Amino acid sequence: TLGPAPVVENVRPVDGLPEIVNTPLDQLVQDIIASREVSDLSGEGDESSFFVADLSAVYESVKMWRESAIGDRVEIFYAAKCCPTLPVLHLLSLLGVNFDCASTAEFQQVLSLPSAPSPERIIFANPCKAPSMIRAAADAHVDMMTFDNADELYKVKKAHPNAKLVLRILTDDSKSLCRLGLKYGAPLETCPGLLALAQQLGLNVIGVSFHVGSGCKDPAQFSDAIWRSRKVFDMGKKVGYDFKFLDIGGGFERPTFAEMSDVVRDALDVYFPRESGVRVIAEPGRLLVSSAFTLATNIIARRRALEPASVAAQEEGEGADVMYYINDGVYGSFNCILFDHVTPDTHLLTHQHQYVGATRQALEGTNTEMASIWGPTCDSMDCVRSLVRLPAGLQVGDWLGWSNMGAYTLCAASRFNGMNKSPVNWTTGGESKDAKIVRAVLDAFAKR
Ligand code: PLP
Repeated sequence: TLGPAPVVENVRPVDGLPEIVNTPLDQLVQDIIASREVSDLSGEGDESSFFVADLSAVYESVKMWRESAIGDRVEIFYAAKCCPTLPVLHLLSLLGVNFDCASTAEFQQVLSLPSAPSPERIIFANPCKAPSMIRAAADAHVDMMTFDNADELYKVKKAHPNAKLVLRILTDDSKSLCRLGLKYGAPLETCPGLLALAQQLGLNVIGVSFHVGSGCKDPAQFSDAIWRSRKVFDMGKKVGYDFKFLDIGGGFERPTFAEMSDVVRDALDVYFPRESGVRVIAEPGRLLVSSAFTLATNIIARRRALEPASVAAQEEGEGADVMYYINDGVYGSFNCILFDHVTPDTHLLTHQHQYVGATRQALEGTNTEMASIWGPTCDSMDCVRSLVRLPAGLQVGDWLGWSNMGAYTLCAASRFNGMNKSPVNWTTGGESKDAKIVRAVLDAFAKR
């Protein structure tokens, strides 16, 4: 267990939180679909797409972190950009999780949470900030911030001379889905010069950060990055700094988390043993929220594919029989296909308007066909799946579900073509032990 929720200062009434029910996620999806009464081509009912988000899954991810090999050593600073929704941020704040923010709006959102976390609980982890953002951070007493270039040091000297600076270094991200090193991170050979300049300007550099890339596939990238960080700590020593802060960034994913955390613990034990007194933080985003969100989309139109593929061609992955059009797409929640290199996984929620969802219906024994799935905008780029095997005979009005849709989805959705963004329905998840703890944490805060 996580122990008691931390004491929170400056408590205000819980403003602005949406309704949060307490129904198991699959049941809530089913209830909402039933209430929509979408059946056939008659146009009746409400077919609009929607998310269901289960806060107990967010809690469970935090628990997983804290019970892992690095749980008692590495503090979480949740990467708010990944899913900056009020219930998620509120719960994390109550659980004592801190925040990685990338912009003025993000740190203002965190500071104005109902629990009013103090500014020391934020790291402004954007190495290339507009001067106005640095001024805003100074005004808000957000002191910890990253840099990776000389101009940033001059800007900070001017706008926030008391900042606690963290040097973001370049590490190997070649095995990651999203390679952040293309944009950020000082190569090791530039670090001595940057640190000497910071010292010359009288700036307070407290340590080092890195990000191995989002969706990291190779744990060795973490050990290599921690080794590089050690080198930069030693460079700091040479110019008179005594760093006590290491930020190992994000990049963690559920399937590989146990292995990653073992590797990180071992590397920390070698290069930053506990006796060193170095505070270690991480900025996980995806790991905490991805599994908590399921999206339900409705089939709003259907066509035979223009050139039905032969069986042989289908097996080669060359063509679809049928084209389904759903009411969220790559300009909306599925922007993760373009920006996050995701291939979203779909399951049937209804088949010919009968609910089949919670079983994640297996395909065995059902006639199947190859389908392509398209978003609602008039752009042919708006393709959600170019070829996927689905049970045959789906109809207009049927619902398709999409799991693991919490990370980098609704936060970057647009309203291109005037399409609505899919709204979120919140639950604490039912009667599981984790759900009860979440409910207790939220209730305890609301009663203060
Ligand atoms: N920290 C920084 C600086 C980032 O840029 C990102 C993602 O872009 C994250 C943390 C979160 O990464 P992830 O969601 O892969 O854990």
